[in-house]
Amino acid sequence: MRPFSYLEPRALGDAVAMLAEAPSRTRLLAGGTDLLLQLERGPFDRVVNLKRIAGLRAIAEEPDETVIGPLATLTDLLRSEAIARRHPVLREAALLMASPQVRNLATIGGNLCNASPAADLAPPLLCLDARLSVVGPHGQREIPIAEFFAGPGRTALSPDEILVAIRVPAVATRAAFLKFSPRRAMDLAIVSVACAATNGRTRVALGAVAEVPLLVPPSPDEAASMARPIDDLRASAEYRRAMVRVLVRRALEAVARRTT
Ligand SMILES: Cc1cc2nc3c(=O)[nH]c(=O)nc-3n(C[C@H](O)[C@H](O)[C@H](O)COP(=O)(O)OP(=O)(O)OC[C@H]3O[C@@H](n4cnc5c(N)ncnc54)[C@H](O)[C@@H]3O)c2cc1C
Repeated sequence: MRPFSYLEPRALGDAVAMLAEAPSRTRLLAGGTDLLLQLERGPFDRVVNLKRIAGLRAIAEEPDETVIGPLATLTDLLRSEAIARRHPVLREAALLMASPQVRNLATIGGNLCNASPAADLAPPLLCLDARLSVVGPHGQREIPIAEFFAGPGRTALSPDEILVAIRVPAVATRAAFLKFSPRRAMDLAIVSVACAATNGRTRVALGAVAEVPLLVPPSPDEAASMARPIDDLRASAEYRRAMVRVLVRRALEAVARRTT
């Protein structure tokens, strides 16, 4: 592994200042399950660990929204009574991710900020219309999740900004998440689909079939035509597109059957 400086701020303001000193040479560390691979090849030599900052791991129930700290791990999502009651689709997605050991480390913020087209928490959060609070040297702003992903490994975050909260509206929603991958565990999706019905409006989002997770119309044929899959080792583009059609149909049926 290449040498790097390691910084461990105890307050958010200190983390912002440390990042602002050299944004292009610095990476933020959450669980490290994606970052560890980047340390081998990345063009950076400073790591700022966010884990010692109090409050960034909390899951808070506000009247109108659930505020999830970016450092909440996948295990935290699985254990949270608030998530199970208000947003069970996030639980469904977290259960299909990685292994118990990885889930104890991997965070929701890392999953979003790593910006893999196959990030499993992205489609459900797109369907739930989440908003992301970010902080930088110039203050705080909110980004609708639909505007967050810019390409593989790229987001709407400026290099000097930190994701500090994922805000999920607390409205009655029926939702489902389906993940299709060659193995039942420890594998990235070939195609993933989330679907959520809220106040008579149905949203569908796709993972792993475009350069970013994608919101699409709630129609299997339209979803398949909007997907932009690639051929790779895991599956052909043609197969992925066919599976989008199948999974969107199944997700819409699953949501129609659900009462909560
Ligand atoms: C064996 C294995 C299996 C896996 N299986 C899956 C799977 O099934 N599904 C899936 O989606 N992923 C999977 N992953 C990928 C990974 O575990 C997840 O993406 C995880 O959620 C990343 O979170 P992390 O806390 O480890 O992120 P880190 O590795 O700490 O960070 C990832 C990136 O996000 C940035 N970052 C982190 N937090 C912030 C923040 N608050 N603000 C700004 N930038 C930030 C970091 O700088 C880094 O660039 C797997 C990984 C492994 C090793």
